[in-house]
Amino acid sequence: ALPGGDGAAGHRSKSTIPDLRERTLIAVKPDGVQRRLVGQIIQRFEQRGFKLVGLKMLQVSDDLLSQHYYELRTKPFYPMLLDYMTSGPVVVMVWEGHKVVQTTRTMVGHTNPAEAQAGTVRGDFSFHVSRNVVHASDSPEGAQREIQLWFQRKELLNWDCCDETMTCE
Ligand code: ADP
Repeated sequence: ALPGGDGAAGHRSKSTIPDLRERTLIAVKPDGVQRRLVGQIIQRFEQRGFKLVGLKMLQVSDDLLSQHYYELRTKPFYPMLLDYMTSGPVVVMVWEGHKVVQTTRTMVGHTNPAEAQAGTVRGDFSFHVSRNVVHASDSPEGAQREIQLWFQRKELLNWDCCDETMTCE
């Protein structure tokens, strides 16, 4: 018999139930919107199996950005970063799923596109760190903070998948 199981066929220990409800904040930055990359970027996360639970387009304020990038406020590139991020609208999203923070960071690639692997968003769509197309939260705690900053609770939707709620006559 399996450890912790009753030995019946099909039973397995349930000690490692995955947390399917982790959330992260992803944003298509102004260059990504301007270059018509929104659809392709969304497609990658859908294709991977993550669930979109929030989505909006907005022109970001300096106030929101200064909170979002608080840790970078002393960096020499910070004023340029604010100019970049306010140079047009962004599309900001919340995605949900097992280890979504870590997985989407891998999918987005290195901050500096010159070091980003081909196959990542930055590795496929960008060549310079000052125009790197996309933002992704870098830790579950950071994601929680960013989601609260960018979204109101009512803008985030819980929904069930059609193939789990099918009914027959
Ligand atoms: P990430 O976005 O990968 O989490 P950081 O938090 O370090 O990376 O930086 C935030 C953003 O600041 C980057 O995505 C990039 O747009 C910009 N940035 C970082 N380093 C530089 C740099 N050396 N020159 C210009 N912009 C930079």
